[in-house]
Amino acid sequence: MKKYNFNAGPCILDRSVIEKTAQAILDFNGIGLSLAEISHRSKDFQPVIDEAEALVKELLQVPEGYSVLFLGGGASLEFCMIPYNFLKKKAAYLNTGVWAKKAMKEAKLFGEVIEVASSADANYTFIPKDWTCPTDVDYLHITTNNTIYGTEIRKDLDVPVRMIADMSSDIFSRPVDVAKYDAIYAGAQKNLSMAGVTIVIVKNDALGQVERQIPTMLDYRTHVEKGSMFNTPPVVPIYTALENLRWMKAQGGVEAMDKLAQQRAEIIYGEIDRNKLFRGTVAEEDRSVMNLCFVMNDEYKDLEKDFMEFATSKGMVGVKGHRSVGGFRASCYNAQTIEGCEALVACMKEFEANH
Ligand SMILES: *Cc1c(COP(=O)(O)O)cnc(C)c1O
Repeated sequence: MKKYNFNAGPCILDRSVIEKTAQAILDFNGIGLSLAEISHRSKDFQPVIDEAEALVKELLQVPEGYSVLFLGGGASLEFCMIPYNFLKKKAAYLNTGVWAKKAMKEAKLFGEVIEVASSADANYTFIPKDWTCPTDVDYLHITTNNTIYGTEIRKDLDVPVRMIADMSSDIFSRPVDVAKYDAIYAGAQKNLSMAGVTIVIVKNDALGQVERQIPTMLDYRTHVEKGSMFNTPPVVPIYTALENLRWMKAQGGVEAMDKLAQQRAEIIYGEIDRNKLFRGTVAEEDRSVMNLCFVMNDEYKDLEKDFMEFATSKGMVGVKGHRSVGGFRASCYNAQTIEGCEALVACMKEFEANH
């Protein structure tokens, strides 16, 4: 049976990206060795990281003066590296979910943290709107897509200070005005690659402004200076990222990814709103096009388990909602197909007809 992968992360990648990675692991570029057993400093690998960096810059139209880094440690390590490198006295954070909260927790180790707004009291079912950003902070940190709750800030905010964004689960799904940010980071396993690499886009002249000593590995300047080669970088995930970047470019780049995301969202949210059994969990204007969360309407609550089983029997994978929201979550990252979305909708319709 065909499987449709709606996992929230690690997540769906286009089959061609997986196949090319598999081939490179068996025999990289016909050199008779595996990608997994060659030096990251070899003439065979250097072009991989160079092209990956160039494609990130091309796809997101990264302006001059920014570096693209491929690091280990996940987005979670960036929660700490960001304040280490950027927080002088005070930073502002928008609290839109568990990941944002984790980022704030680390920042508090380095200085004063102002929570500009929070939707915690409403289990993060909306993006707070009526807030102002203080002008005397070193940066404003936002989480553009809240993977767990299914809310998204799908535009580049206008604020009076520099922004830093966790774009783990929606990077490369839309054009971004990078010039508004001092740093953008993303754990790759949501929309770029397999787990193991984190992509960081950082403004060079925003670095080196803090007075504290920064351990070498946690100092972005180390990685900028060494082209992400200070230590051994995660070569296989970087290679998969490269193949995915090539794939995204061939599809028409982030504009095409954006259009596809909107189409997928219309198909699935359309059915959530039409179907008598289901309802969405977040404010309509803040609905994420990457992670689409929904639950059973109250009068059908006891059908939840049955629907999970039914969906699984039809080949749907990963539609169970996060434990802090419950219900269902259909994650639609770049490689999610319209066919997959239609298969899920067909499943919802059939289940409705049976009840
Ligand atoms: C998954 C996720 C993280 C954590 O990423 P790791 O790479 O596992 O550390 C952080 N932020 C967001 C928005 C995420 O979706």
